[in-house]
Amino acid sequence: MSSRPSCLVCGAVVTSDPPKGLACDLCLFRLRQALAQMPRLYVQLHLELPHGTPHRQHEKTANRLQWKFRDAPPPLRLPLLAHADRCVVALRSWAQDALPRCLPTRPTRPGHLLQTLCNALASDLPACLATPAHGRQARAVWAAYAHARDLLHQDEPPLRLPTPCPVCDLRSLTTTTDGTVTCRSCTACWPAHTPLRHTRSR
Ligand SMILES: [Zn+2]
Ligand SMILES: [Zn+2]
Repeated sequence: MSSRPSCLVCGAVVTSDPPKGLACDLCLFRLRQALAQMPRLYVQLHLELPHGTPHRQHEKTANRLQWKFRDAPPPLRLPLLAHADRCVVALRSWAQDALPRCLPTRPTRPGHLLQTLCNALASDLPACLATPAHGRQARAVWAAYAHARDLLHQDEPPLRLPTPCPVCDLRSLTTTTDGTVTCRSCTACWPAHTPLRHTRSR
């Protein structure tokens, strides 16, 4: 019966009061985080070898790579490099639809393009989440970001949420990559994408 919109990205009821757009606070928060981190991850995907590569092989490959790794990536690096490209594709398809004016008119290096798109989307985020297609594209960007972290074996640092805890009223809510929200003060916990206010009377 709620007249509140559903988040275009995750489908949860938008609980911000008044709603700031068609995405929930959590998704806005996470997408901002993803857009801020992706340029760094993109560079790391080009520099690092998959986790578990023996150390000696690391050195050998690094010595061999030097200037030509873009043309002839050793097999070990292929998943990382391919994923770096997928990050650019995901961002570009969201931007093309949501913010076409931010796409460069001249050919641009993929790394530079990625950075430009991240900045542009982050600076106008609620407006870039206006249609169900935008929601799907944003989800794809989030998935690309999460997969890049997985490939690089970097855990998402817990994010602090700006909303107060519905149980203890302190601003000590944090969220992890899977969407679980935990209060660090009273240790209340909500599974992924449960609208916080609706669980108060548990
Ligand atoms: Zn959401
Ligand atoms: Zn609490």
